[in-house]
Amino acid sequence: MPTTSSDSQPIIDIRDLHKHFGNHHVLKGVSFTAHQGEVVSLIGASGSGKSTLLRCMNLLEVPDSGQVLISGEEVALAQNRRGQNVIVDPRQVERIRTRLGMVFQNFNLWPHMTVLENLIEVPTRVLGQPRQEAIELAEALLAKVGIADKRHSYPAFLSGGQQQRVAIARALATRPAVMLFDEPTSALDPELVGEVLKVIRDLAQDGCTMVLVTHEMAFARDVSSKVMFLHQGRIEEAGSASQVFENPGSERCRQFVNAQF
Ligand code: ADP
Ligand code: MG
Repeated sequence: MPTTSSDSQPIIDIRDLHKHFGNHHVLKGVSFTAHQGEVVSLIGASGSGKSTLLRCMNLLEVPDSGQVLISGEEVALAQNRRGQNVIVDPRQVERIRTRLGMVFQNFNLWPHMTVLENLIEVPTRVLGQPRQEAIELAEALLAKVGIADKRHSYPAFLSGGQQQRVAIARALATRPAVMLFDEPTSALDPELVGEVLKVIRDLAQDGCTMVLVTHEMAFARDVSSKVMFLHQGRIEEAGSASQVFENPGSERCRQFVNAQF
């Protein structure tokens, strides 16, 4: 397991985050950190707020209150005239997002681009990397996720497991400081889950920092340096994998975990 230091500055630092959708108070004061080399798994029932928390990390959702710091840089938020929190500087958000590699449940590859084009789009067009350099990194990443032979294919011709491995390679292509995974295997046929989990496990073994929302409990127990159980918008239990899975303080966490295995 990668060594971590809780004294060092976290890559992701969320403080007392609240988020509403209309009258629905979805996140109720969540604090969360992920340090260099940590694999933090977020578990909890459907609707507990896991995706919303992940989406607040990369500002796909704007928190109503609380702070989001990425590598020590605080995202500037301010209230508009209607009292809603808004992003102050869109360029700051763009910059921060390139440090976060996001992988969604449904792959979200660009269907009109080949695999290789999917990987080099952001590095060349947004980050201004020379095309040849971007291609070299893309090919190395495709080899790493075991899919180099598909580089000129379009996403529709790949299996779900292959598409998700491309999505992981694409997220890595901006050399992010942390990878965020939102149920990366939930949309896959059961026989394709293993190939995607293997890629994520390899990344964890390489020391890649990641936040992982998953229902794959055995996997989370194996790879996580920290596990957080979210219940109705609050962190109900947090600790090492063995603590949360084998000896949780919270009865709700115990019931949830037992029901999953
Ligand atoms: P989880 O990922 O743990 O299943 P979510 O974060 O997706 O939970 O959702 C938490 C709650 O917030 C759910 O009740 C969901 O319906 C609601 N919610 C999420 N996104 C939106 C949205 N954009 N608009 C309204 N309600 C939302
Ligand atoms: Mg979700």
